[in-house]
Amino acid sequence: MCNPTTVNYAAEAEDITRLRNQAANGRSGCCSCTFRKSGKFGPTGKLRQLRADGVTPNGQTDNQWTGEVFVSSDGTRGEVTVYSRLKAINKTADTTMYPDTVAVSDADLTAKVARLPPAIERAWNARGWKLKITDAKCGQRVFDVRFIVTTVDSGEHYKLDFVNVAGMGVNNDVRGISSGRSYILAPDRGKFNLGDDRTATDNVGDECLEPHEYGHMIGLIDEYRDVPMDRGGVKYEFPDRSTETAAVNGELMGSMTVKTAQPNRYCVTIAYAAIAVLEANGFAVTDCVIE
Ligand SMILES: [Zn+2]
Repeated sequence: MCNPTTVNYAAEAEDITRLRNQAANGRSGCCSCTFRKSGKFGPTGKLRQLRADGVTPNGQTDNQWTGEVFVSSDGTRGEVTVYSRLKAINKTADTTMYPDTVAVSDADLTAKVARLPPAIERAWNARGWKLKITDAKCGQRVFDVRFIVTTVDSGEHYKLDFVNVAGMGVNNDVRGISSGRSYILAPDRGKFNLGDDRTATDNVGDECLEPHEYGHMIGLIDEYRDVPMDRGGVKYEFPDRSTETAAVNGELMGSMTVKTAQPNRYCVTIAYAAIAVLEANGFAVTDCVIE
């Protein structure tokens, strides 16, 4: 089981509305303003996937991703809010595209998909990262990082095909197109499998599949060792230029023994996104540390 805390991280649409209203009044270089960017982020090239040898880069860097990022501050403290809107497409009856899928009604799909935003928010807010950002004008400020996820019918950041394939299905091709594999196609699409026993959509047992995929929705890449795909971990370069290599590990973007997002390195694409938002608004960021 990976069911974590009972804290209610349910998305508050009014929070986003408030942040958007604040951002509308943001002034370049202002230390107590809210800034916003909605759209595509990255790739930064600061994350490099390694070959199965765990040493040599295989050419894959972090994914470009889609979302809305707010950076707000009162001058000393603040928040970095990452907002993701997901649209579910019912492909459970599309046996032409997905031969092993079993139909689920639209109403049942809606009920299942409603479990995803809280599951993703629990996993990604569990750690409570902080970004300590320094810039020439405002000095050092600490920002709490928060993730908010909602499902929508339009205006989505990600369009997700939902299939219902027991396990991985019999058509388990390595690219996963017709199988029960869940994946994200950067920067704004994906496929999720309701029939995977790790899904959060059934409210039973593990709920780490979609939180793992959410990591891809914010640009992260797989850390696990997968010899047929010539993957052997990821080398990260942080904004302060320090580096870390993570390969063949139990964390959420690896083999998922740990079901919530814990390592500081999982906040690195958000750190780069926050820096990009600040730099687009007149700041020269000189340091950023994830804590
Ligand atoms: Zn993955």
